[in-house]
This record gives sequence, C-alpha cells and structure tokens, in this order.
Amino acid sequence: MVLKVVKYGTPVLRQKGTRVEAVTPAIRKLIADMLDTMYAHKGIGLAAQQVGVPIQLTVIDVRGVTDRPSSLEVDGHPVDVAESMPLVLMNPHITPVGQKVSGPEGCLSFPEIFVDITRPDVVDVEALDAEGEPIQFRCGGLLARAIQHETDHLHGILFIDRMTKEVKEELRPELDALQAETKKELE
Ligand code: ZN
Repeated sequence: MVLKVVKYGTPVLRQKGTRVEAVTPAIRKLIADMLDTMYAHKGIGLAAQQVGVPIQLTVIDVRGVTDRPSSLEVDGHPVDVAESMPLVLMNPHITPVGQKVSGPEGCLSFPEIFVDITRPDVVDVEALDAEGEPIQFRCGGLLARAIQHETDHLHGILFIDRMTKEVKEELRPELDALQAETKKELE
C-alpha cells in the first residue's frame, strides 16, 4: 500500500525515532508499505518519519539510479550491490570511514529541491535487518550517501541542516513556500 509522504513543515520530520525493539506484524506491514511508497515515488530511500511514524526504520534501493556508482563490502569482501537491494535497516549506526565528498541530493519530503551536500564517501553500518537480525557492512558512493541521508531522518535531521549557510540562504524562499504550503494543508 502506497502511503502519503509528508512534506517539510510536518512536525514528525523533526522527531527523533524510537528504536525498533521487535519485528511485529505491524512493523512487517510498515516495511512492505514503505517499499511500495518508495518505489511509487521513484525514491532511492525512505525513512519511517516520512510516512508519519517516528521510529528508527528505513528502506533503501539504489538500483533506480544507474549513473552514480555504489559499493558494498561484507567482512572485507565486495558484494553485488543490486543483489543486496532493497535494504531494510532498523536502528542503524554509522561510522564514517572515507573522505568527505560533495554530491547532489534530493528528498521526497522536499519535492523539486536538489542541492550538493558534503558527506563521507565511505561509511561502516551496523543495523538490524528486516528479520531483526544484526548486520554489518561497509558501503560507498551513492549507497553511502543514501544511508547517511536516511539515518539522519531517523534522528529528526534533514538535509537542509547539512547545507552550507550560503546554499540554505539561496533556497530560503523555496523552503519558506514549501513550509507554508505544508502548514496550510495541516490546518
Ligand atoms: Zn529525505
């Protein structure tokens, strides 16, 4: 089932997610619905906050983007990225490994807004998978960027918080308009 994606200005986007303690039937349903929602919107990642649920759960699938490479390693061995998608991560914890690089980023909660954000290009990730089993891997490129963007969401952090002051000032009119539109819808 495709869920509504909430937009910038919706308070839940600023809520830190609670940790997922058990994979209940409700969590399984939410995971399935989040995957449907991500694919319906042609996104490469979606956080639970974006469908109005403040918990530490995100889904990711970078297969939709072919011109920006990703890497994935498990126990020091390269793993096929496409075969590992979609990723379902609960309670993810990220450790930066690589150098910081700048790259374009968008967000389903900020339609039409794309800006360069600087983030580490390689990260180590520890999380629980869709079955609640612990997983660990190292990833790079677009996948690393997507996971960092989504993990931020789970802590109430948005990509506008990662922009330079100058870029954010430039975007100010668009951000204010989006926020005003969202607030009007919520009334
Ligand atoms: Zn986002």
